[in-house]
Amino acid sequence: MGKTGKVYLIGAGPGDPGLITVRGKELLYSCDAVLYDNLVCPEFIIAIPKTTEKYYVGKKAGDHPVPQEKINELLLKLAREGKSVARLKGSDPLIFGRGGEEAKYLKEHGVEFEIITGVTSGIAGPAYAGIPCTDRMLASSVLFLTGHKSSDKLKSTVPWDWVAKIKNGTVVIYMGVNEISNITSQLIEYGMNSDTSAAIVERGTFPSQRVFTATLKNLPGIVKNENVRPPALFVLGEVVNLQPYLEWFADRPLLGLRVLVTRASAQAGDLYRRLRELGAEPLPYPTIAARVVDDVNGWTNFSYIQNENKWLIFTSENGVRYFMDSFFKKFDDIRMLAGFKIAAIGAGTSKLLKEYRLPTDYMPSKATVNILVDEMPKAVDLKGAAVVRVRGNLADDLIEKAFPGMGAEVVPLTTYETYYPKWPDGLKEKLIDYPPDAILFTSGSTKKGLYHNLSKDEVDKIIQNAKVFSIGPKASAVLKSEDVNITREAKVQNIAGLLDELVDYYSEK
Ligand code: SAH
Repeated sequence: MGKTGKVYLIGAGPGDPGLITVRGKELLYSCDAVLYDNLVCPEFIIAIPKTTEKYYVGKKAGDHPVPQEKINELLLKLAREGKSVARLKGSDPLIFGRGGEEAKYLKEHGVEFEIITGVTSGIAGPAYAGIPCTDRMLASSVLFLTGHKSSDKLKSTVPWDWVAKIKNGTVVIYMGVNEISNITSQLIEYGMNSDTSAAIVERGTFPSQRVFTATLKNLPGIVKNENVRPPALFVLGEVVNLQPYLEWFADRPLLGLRVLVTRASAQAGDLYRRLRELGAEPLPYPTIAARVVDDVNGWTNFSYIQNENKWLIFTSENGVRYFMDSFFKKFDDIRMLAGFKIAAIGAGTSKLLKEYRLPTDYMPSKATVNILVDEMPKAVDLKGAAVVRVRGNLADDLIEKAFPGMGAEVVPLTTYETYYPKWPDGLKEKLIDYPPDAILFTSGSTKKGLYHNLSKDEVDKIIQNAKVFSIGPKASAVLKSEDVNITREAKVQNIAGLLDELVDYYSEK
């Protein structure tokens, strides 16, 4: 038998993807296999390399969670196959997380493990709400407890009579949403002042976080009226009175807006980050992805070009990216690009070219191939020119058709192909459970990709209940042809333009 692999019990933090540890993140993207729960931020899951084995061990829609024994057995099996295994758990693995049980089981079976602690929600949730768990004047202790009522008499239970007598301290209750009426009445019965300051932190550290401050006796009413749902925490104690002074998270233009991002995840990192800065919660559901294509004939034709007058036409960022990747793999001499003039469609394409130190010589007035075919021959001399049309597999052939008639020789060069990625398990349920407020379509095909993961009814429902933002006329045309109501179209056709439109729309409201 080969060497047994190691298991890493990793805390993913409570929601904000910035709250995983450096060590945790490093392991997540380097292990052979990952097991994750439903409290884990989807942005992590989407970014796990394709080649990593992924196991969702959380609750599936209408289903029970995977039993603990099954999770233990899976960890053991993977480790015995010699794999390094990241066991990703919400917030901290050892605080109400059963990480201890998993570790014990592994030790009993001779499997090495490491515990990578995480920020527990009971610390981070209050912090993002503006509530310090301790305070020099108001609280000299903090008590974390579970509000979950256990039917198992053997398990340790919370001594509510004792909790009710806490002095100069803070109580943080996990897993209490369904039991809050019982909890408050017991605490009051055992002598806790019914006017004790209290707060509810729902989805703490997520941009859609909600915070309610109240008094102990009012908690059940708020849960009911505001439809508070797990994950949520209750905080009891005088520190709650500091909340109005310390609140810091709330002041952002897109606060709490849930924005479905259908763009390929490889290119969406920046967009996720920008949305977070604006206070929105990006829902990372890529419906499209690209991979390299080796167009042997195209590259041969490219290398034979002798014309003095020669152009490279890039119509998308992917075109640039995959062209460059392949170019540097195939040729050892950057001067193979010498003498080419460069046409680009769209500001994003041109910007990316610039990062490669390739200035754009020609750009049509609008970012469509149609307009380029119409305008470019009027602006530049194409007679006797060689035109390399850098493309993806789904691109149209307008250039190939139109330019030969103007005396140019067109060399089509396919550098990438588009495919529809399947979402990792568990992510679809999350989307249906917490649907988006707004959807960003960065191309027409990103909508089509939704059907590879959702049924038609599910797609219709999500789209009808959200505001739709389109990156430009081409995407809008596709969307309109499929009867989608477009709320706004970006004035400048790039991601920044799309975000401007989003902020503009929501600040008018
Ligand atoms: N290991 C986790 C707790 C898991 S138990 C930790 O260290 O935080 C699940 C409970 O944690 C939920 O019922 C809720 O009370 C709390 N919780 C987890 N994430 C939360 C969040 N983002 N906001 C508020 N409460 C959260």
